[in-house]
Amino acid sequence: MIKFFNSLTKRKEDFSPSSDVVKMYSCGPTVYSYPHIGNMRAYLFMDNIRRVLKYNGYKIDGVINITDVGHLTSDADEGEDKMLVASQREHKSPWEIAKFYTEIFFQEAKKLNIDMPEHVAPATSVINEIIKFVQGLIDKGLAYITSKGVYYDISKFPGYGKLGGAVDSKMAGARIDVDEEKHNPYDFVLWVKAPKEHIMKWDSPWGIGYPGWHIECSVIGNKYLGEYIDIHTGGVDHKTIHHENEIAQSDGLCGHQVVKFWMHVEFLQVDGGKMGKSLNNMYTLDDLKAKGFEPEDFRYFYFNAHYSKQQNFTFEALKGAQNGLKSFKNLVLSHKNGANDVSNEKIEEYKNEFLQAINDDLNMPKALAVCQKMLKENKSVKIYQTMIEFNRVLGFDFVEKEEIPEEIKILAQNRWQAKQNRDFALADKLRKDILDKGYLIKDSKEGFVIEKA
Ligand code: AMP
Ligand code: ZN
Repeated sequence: MIKFFNSLTKRKEDFSPSSDVVKMYSCGPTVYSYPHIGNMRAYLFMDNIRRVLKYNGYKIDGVINITDVGHLTSDADEGEDKMLVASQREHKSPWEIAKFYTEIFFQEAKKLNIDMPEHVAPATSVINEIIKFVQGLIDKGLAYITSKGVYYDISKFPGYGKLGGAVDSKMAGARIDVDEEKHNPYDFVLWVKAPKEHIMKWDSPWGIGYPGWHIECSVIGNKYLGEYIDIHTGGVDHKTIHHENEIAQSDGLCGHQVVKFWMHVEFLQVDGGKMGKSLNNMYTLDDLKAKGFEPEDFRYFYFNAHYSKQQNFTFEALKGAQNGLKSFKNLVLSHKNGANDVSNEKIEEYKNEFLQAINDDLNMPKALAVCQKMLKENKSVKIYQTMIEFNRVLGFDFVEKEEIPEEIKILAQNRWQAKQNRDFALADKLRKDILDKGYLIKDSKEGFVIEKA
């Protein structure tokens, strides 16, 4: 049985999907700049859940949105339009910006071997559905029209604040609202009437405009997964506003709870603090590469902390992960040509331990520890095969840079046999033949390993 921590109930709960396919929604990137390694932690988290579900035999129907419509820089409908800022910075249209950074996002995900959802949906691909959804909310009396656009009336949705506890702190907050037409200071925008100069805009019953940010996730979830979604993922920063608003929209329209499990990944910090443009520490995978680190090193680094805890990124820690991964891989490969066989019972024990760890709310540090323990056993091809199976969850590249040629494997096997038959002269001759061909045989009590000389 899989257990996941549900941010909504604030408890670890048994997970079971509402149908034979797990419906999973992941909040995707805003495509206006290179994703940084903090963003990538959020997608490694998504990947982690997907791989664990698949390892448990589940099929997944997943979707991730691409925010390619300009929305305002803060969650609370204030500030500048991120897409617009980028388009001015790079002298490109917002459409070109979106296309370029969407491509970059896929590339970054691929570098990290992230298992991508079955559907990828840009916000601009669902404008008609957004308009219908917003109309539905108006018809239900949950939204109202002002001179600036359409707003969600949070006072009409009694459960508002149940996920992030946002409402109390928000209501208590002394922030003065700028829009006098709003019924409640924290009502949020569903559709924005566009000023003339605004580039990305569409016709709607409420005038030419563009969608608010939160609505796209409710609409895309509804379009691709329907009214019942098993898991919804995102970063913790989305808990208090974005996801609260999504619940108000989706549950408000459907008249019932739409998402069962809300799962949030904690933030990646850098040098013990926040990442920020002005701090010059918003590293991308390319920045890591420039310092000699592969994306896979970052993947290994990710597994060293539980997703519910903040993880502190330093280059020193990444170096540790790089070394850790290197020896981990060498250990895995050292079992590939191992002659000794561990018992099937022992292998089953390890498999159980591994499964328990990953199913206990994705305890990846524990899962890695199980691997390490198993790898300390005598060299056995069974352990190698088991690691290949575990790797469906871990997602590393265990392919040997250079395969041991078949001819060498046969010679080594013959030598082992000669040794067993106490024909040491033949065994020595074969060892020398193998060495002449560039390979070393290392014996242990129980078997041998072939290595490049
Ligand atoms: P954005 O493109 O800004 O919408 O963010 C994409 C995803 O990255 C969201 O799920 C955020 O919650 C997540 N995210 C942003 N910064 C961090 C960070 N430092 N650590 C982990 N996740 C983050
Ligand atoms: Zn979202």
